Formats: sequence, structure tokens, C-alpha cells
Amino acid sequence: MNPVIIIGSGLAGYTLAREFRKLNKAAPLLIVTADDGGFYSKPMLSNAFAQGKQAAELFTQPAAQMAEQLGVTILSGVRVESVDTGAMTVTTSAGVFAYDKLVLAVGAQPIRLAIDGNAADAVMSVNHIDDYQHFRQRIAVSGPRARITILGAGLIGCEFADDLAGAGHHVNLVDPSKAPLAALAPPALSQGLRSALEARGVDLRLGTSAVRIDQAQGGLMVSLADGSMFEADVVLSAVGLRPDLRLAQEANLATARGVVVDAFGKSSAPHVYALGDCAEYVTDDNGGRVLPYIAPLMTAARAIARTLDGQPTAIELKATPVIVKTPSFPLALLPPSPQAAASGTWRATSFGEHIVCRFHDENGCMRGFGVAPHDAKIRQTLLAELGSMMASAA
Ligand SMILES: Cc1cc2nc3c(=O)[nH]c(=O)nc-3n(C[C@H](O)[C@H](O)[C@H](O)COP(=O)(O)OP(=O)(O)OC[C@H]3O[C@@H](n4cnc5c(N)ncnc54)[C@H](O)[C@@H]3O)c2cc1C
Repeated sequence: MNPVIIIGSGLAGYTLAREFRKLNKAAPLLIVTADDGGFYSKPMLSNAFAQGKQAAELFTQPAAQMAEQLGVTILSGVRVESVDTGAMTVTTSAGVFAYDKLVLAVGAQPIRLAIDGNAADAVMSVNHIDDYQHFRQRIAVSGPRARITILGAGLIGCEFADDLAGAGHHVNLVDPSKAPLAALAPPALSQGLRSALEARGVDLRLGTSAVRIDQAQGGLMVSLADGSMFEADVVLSAVGLRPDLRLAQEANLATARGVVVDAFGKSSAPHVYALGDCAEYVTDDNGGRVLPYIAPLMTAARAIARTLDGQPTAIELKATPVIVKTPSFPLALLPPSPQAAASGTWRATSFGEHIVCRFHDENGCMRGFGVAPHDAKIRQTLLAELGSMMASAA
């Protein structure tokens, strides 16, 4: 019997393997992964500096232990080069393997900014524990108060800025928007985060972008579109991720922003599924959405595991708040969908020390919320309020 093959040992691949094993102890499972297959929680990468954590300390289990615990075979350090959906095989750097079912859990790739300058290649990004290790090494050689420039004040950029400033480094945070987290957070919370980051010592350069990175005598010279220039020891790009479509496109699977899957997580090819950062899920309005967060991949893993076990189960994505792990001003955000966001307004109220924001559409129906500092009880109350408003509007 050919195995279920999962490509990728990130949270999507491992969560699926775990969920599948809860249902089926017998079917052979093979995980093929380009990395070393050690298990770690990726969200910790943007919170580990202030805690002084080395990369090795973030691994909770090595590949061998994962293989034993999950009853799977893991081929680590092996890259899948191509998929033949007709022959139902994958060609890898370690040979050709036939599958009964195939799951793509290949994640996403950092978006590279088009920046000029003779040190543009020195810009780093962190989407993997190995990247984190290199990033740490580069900072370590610059001393305890390294000058770090972060490009992008979205979720990951703000988390790194807060973390690195908290660890004693000097941080410049650059973004073309006029406020941090502008795409996700209501204005009142963006403003609150901006004040908190400034109080932490982060130098925000908003409404502009980096145009050049050059070698300078003491490190790197960053030039911004507004004409300003400053030196940095390390430049981190946190401008976003793009689903990794290389294998899917080469195998002629339907792709849009991500690998397009149906309500069951199935791609356009028979017996091939996708989840996690590489997937584009069907949403309530029948649109497709890339959801590069933990909660959706866990929901998808539970449903796909049942489907693979012979019980077809639709992925029922629930509205789940994003928790922004900025200790100086932690936020919980549930932004309105892009369609709802087109017409409606945010309203902010104070609740003790908390700022609570609700987004109402043009019919007065609540479509999103945000709260900071994050409080689990207030978040749950807002979630229930949103659920009942949406139910009565439906
Ligand atoms: C710094 C940071 C902080 C984050 N914080 C949060 C948070 O607080 N909350 C939240 O919900 N989300 C957060 N996220 C997002 C979340 O971590 C991701 O959505 C999730 O980890 C994605 O998991 P994945 O398994 O889909 O992808 P990945 O973790 O990228 O795994 C992809 C896997 O595929 C393998 N692979 C790729 N191509 C091949 C190939 N051709 N052959 C073999 N193997 C291959 C890779 O080696 C890897 O094992 C954060 C992300 C980052 C970067």
C-alpha cells in the first residue's frame, strides 16, 4: 500500500500528521521535508530575542522523536523536486516515491523588495528557524546594542521591533503607511501601538520606504525615499510572505494567490490536498483567501485528516482573532473582510485601561473588532457579540 505523503514539516504538515494518526494508526505516512524536521513553534521566532533564546532552544522535539511519536517515516533534508499527479509519484532528491494521497504543506516564501544598492543582498528575512539562527548570529557580531532596521511595520515587523528593542538593540522601523499595522488594526490601536513602540525606543520612519542599501564604513547605509539616510548593522525585511507555488504550478495544479483548494482542502488534481501558508481556502462568500495563521491551519488539518481517513469533512473556518505579540502593547484583532472593509467605520471606546474598537458596516452590523492591551475575556465577549450580530444579519 502506498503511503499518504505530506510535503513539509512545519506546523501544517505536523498538525495534519498528528490529526490523521488520532483517527488511523495503520495507514503508512511519509513526511518529506527540505529542513531537518525538528519541531518548533514558528510564532516564537518574533518573541525570542528579549527572552535571550538561541535557535536550538526553540526546538521542542527532533525529527527522530517526532517520527516515533507519530508513527511516521520522515525524510529530512530531502527536497521534493516535482509531482506527477497522473502517475501519483513525487520525485525527490532521495528518489521517486508513489503516493496514495498527497498533501502539500510547503509554506510560503518571503517577498523580496526591489531595492537598489551594493548591499541589497544583505537584507535578511526570518520565516524559518534557520533564518532566525543566521539573524541572531549577524546581530551577535554587532554587539549588545546593534543597529537594526526593519522594513515593514505589519504584524511580524512590529513584533520583531518590540522584541529587539526589548532586548536592548536600537531599532528603526520603516513602512510606507502612516501608522504601524495599518492594514490590520483600527486607527486608535495603530496609534496606541505607535506610542508604545516609541516609548520602547523604536525609531519609526513612516510614510516612506527604503530605496537603497549600500556598504558603509561601519556597516550598512540605508537610504529612504524621503531622502533620509542612516546606518544599520543588520536589515530585516518583514514585508510579507507569498505562498510557495513552485511545486503546484509545475504540476499544473490550479493556483491563484495560493494553491486553490475546495471546501475539503482538495486541490484541482485528484488525491492531492493543500493546507497552511501555501493554500488558498474557500471562504463563506465563495472567495478564495490565503490565511497564513495557526488557527486556520489547525482547522484545515482536522478536516483533511478525516477526509483522508475516508470521512469527507468540509473545512469550517471560523472567525479567529489574531493576537499581536507586542508585549509593550499586545493586541487582539479581528479585521473585517476586505469586502466589508470597503464600506463601514471603526468606532473606539475605552474600557478601563483597554481600548475597544468595533467595525460596523453601512447597515450597522458589526464586522470586526480590536482590543488592546489584549485581554482574553474582552476578546471572547467581542467574539460572541460579533457572532450574534452576524447571525442575525444573515
Ligand atoms: C516570525 C513569525 C511569527 C508568527 N507569529 C504568528 C502568531 O503569533 N500567530 C499565528 O497564528 N501565526 C503566526 N505566524 C504564522 C504561522 O507561524 C504560519 O502560518 C505557520 O507556521 C505556517 O506553517 P506551514 O507549515 O504552512 O509552513 P512552514 O512552517 O513554512 O513549513 C513549510 C515546510 O515545507 C517544507 N518544504 C517546502 N518546500 C519543500 C519541498 N519542495 N520539498 C520538501 N519540503 C519542502 C519546508 O522545509 C517546511 O518544513 C508567524 C510567522 C512568522 C514567520
